[in-house]
Amino acid sequence: MSVIQDEKLTAITVGELMIPSEKVAHVQVNNPLEHALLVLVKSGYSAVPVLDASYKLVGTLGKTIILNQILGLERFEFEKLSDMRVHEIVNTDIPCLSKEASLLDGLHALINYPFICVTDSDGYFDGILTRRAILKQVRKNFYTNNTN
Ligand code: AMP
Repeated sequence: MSVIQDEKLTAITVGELMIPSEKVAHVQVNNPLEHALLVLVKSGYSAVPVLDASYKLVGTLGKTIILNQILGLERFEFEKLSDMRVHEIVNTDIPCLSKEASLLDGLHALINYPFICVTDSDGYFDGILTRRAILKQVRKNFYTNNTN
């Protein structure tokens, strides 16, 4: 990619590419794991953001960590799903971006994660940036710059 193309990509912000919060499937910290697994299976996503009651971001939760949690010696102990809550296993060690961050900041963060949460300066959840959104924009820039 040339320096000129890089500059154009740098001008695009995370806010322009993110999926806004109202379109993002999420679970709440106090939900039982049973509800969280239902949301994950029904939505088809492998992980979703976890929010508190005031819509601040707490972390993310995925199917694998839930299934690991209820994995017994010989079977999945599904009865545990209603006893445990999301806050007990939520992954809080995740990177976040602001809407003002550049596409390139997003690209770097997405190398290790399929999606990155976007929050405001007070930690309120604004949406997510996905690998798909970044790849679509990079493809668009590639074709635009190679047909001009
Ligand atoms: P993608 O790059 O579109 O495959 O999305 C990567 C990941 O982002 C998915 O596997 C989900 O974990 C998450 N994701 C994408 N879209 C949504 C959404 N609308 N609501 C919740 N999570 C999503």
